[in-house]
Amino acid sequence: MNGDAIVVGGGLAGLVAATRLAEAGADVTLYERRPEVGGRVRTETVDGFTLDRGFQVLFSSYPAVERELGADGLDDLDLQTFAPGATICRPGSRSTLGDPLRDPRAALPSLLNDEVSTSDKLRTLALRYDLANRDEEAFFAGPDEPIREYLRDWGFADDYVTNFVEPFYGGITLDRTLSTSKHVFEYTFRAMGRGSIGVPAAGMAALPAALADRAREAGVEVRTGEDAEAVRTAGQGRIPFRTGSADADGATVELADGSTREADAVVVAASPPEARRLTGVESVPTEGVPNVTGWYALPAGESFETGGRILLNAASESPNAVVPMSEVAPEYAPDDRALLAATFLGEESLDRGADALREDVRDALAAWFPEREFDGLETLDVHRIRFAQFAQPPGVHADLPDPDDPEGPVVLAGDYTEWSSIQGALESGRTAASAAAEYL
Ligand SMILES: Cc1cc2nc3c(=O)[nH]c(=O)nc-3n(C[C@H](O)[C@H](O)[C@H](O)COP(=O)(O)OP(=O)(O)OC[C@H]3O[C@@H](n4cnc5c(N)ncnc54)[C@H](O)[C@@H]3O)c2cc1C
Repeated sequence: MNGDAIVVGGGLAGLVAATRLAEAGADVTLYERRPEVGGRVRTETVDGFTLDRGFQVLFSSYPAVERELGADGLDDLDLQTFAPGATICRPGSRSTLGDPLRDPRAALPSLLNDEVSTSDKLRTLALRYDLANRDEEAFFAGPDEPIREYLRDWGFADDYVTNFVEPFYGGITLDRTLSTSKHVFEYTFRAMGRGSIGVPAAGMAALPAALADRAREAGVEVRTGEDAEAVRTAGQGRIPFRTGSADADGATVELADGSTREADAVVVAASPPEARRLTGVESVPTEGVPNVTGWYALPAGESFETGGRILLNAASESPNAVVPMSEVAPEYAPDDRALLAATFLGEESLDRGADALREDVRDALAAWFPEREFDGLETLDVHRIRFAQFAQPPGVHADLPDPDDPEGPVVLAGDYTEWSSIQGALESGRTAASAAAEYL
């Protein structure tokens, strides 16, 4: 394949699209407006702690992860994994709900867990069996409904939904009301049964860093700190095209410094609102779901006795969950300190101050662990992310844009062409590269 391609945006989708085009022989330049690649998957270091930009996890069984990184690349991330299941917490009580098939040590406490009835435990196994052999492509097609109704249709009791599903899948979909599409539930539910959930030892940014290494090895020129102002096609006629070019249907990218770059194909892999602005494609979803993550330090020492599980708040929405990060990923904290993440959902949490959030976390921990005190809980940082995922109400996936929707040799890449996740973003990069290759 010959020809030049420009990729706008260095999130996961843009990095994959750029690599695949370069591997196929195109001359590729990627422009990322921020100083580093990764988009919504970033990591910072504060006082020796590793803080991801909003608590998030990698599912090892997402097929696109191994496809893009290879088995060795996935191993190199040195995933620090959570034990399957969760610890359900309420004032004065903590109980383990594990996955007896994947974590036999948790079988007995899970069986005895009275937050969830035996029939719902059996229903969970039946649901797993039902989804086990479904084709990958079939997950986001067909009739849809909110997660809450889907579980009711399956016969799950309200208690199970309230005590476990609300905080657990609320954390995955960033929507504790469970009004998100059942497709997201089904996909992630199966993924969890097939692999582990974890964070790379060096932080979530190790994932885009590995993808960027691959991109550079393939010959991609990765230019950070360069913002694309506009993308124009020949049909829009405002930009002079290369004289003598074999393909007069190219496209031009205007950068914020006023300069222009021409290419035979442009992949717009910017975040959804920006992708809509740049391409004018109205089916790009622009409604976002927020996430607030507070990061807290404690002196190291006492364990949270979760066996590496997330602490779910079954009694209140704030915080939705507390994650014993350094118990799962010791590399995230200096030796003498422990690191916790706490997640807060809903628009209201964006406006709450760091002190109020910390008090909620301290009060929750003190209620769940009455034998301990948490006055020393220290806020390291609070990440308020207005657009963490695009909103995924039932039916949304049927109306998402096709990569080829923009006019001319311009192609869309981003989670918003698939579903809002790392898997969706990586997969979209692959699909966009194939679509862009048609113009090269
Ligand atoms: C707090 C949080 C928790 C999450 N939890 C999970 C999880 O646990 N598991 C999971 O699978 N997914 C999770 N997600 C979702 C997942 O991170 C995203 O779906 C995925 O990273 C989207 O990647 P993307 O490449 O499509 O878009 P983005 O990551 O949005 O990348 C777009 C890139 O384009 C750049 N850009 C934008 N405009 C321009 C421009 N004009 N010029 C140049 N560059 C531009 C941006 O700076 C950005 O780098 C979470 C997200 C957040 C924020």
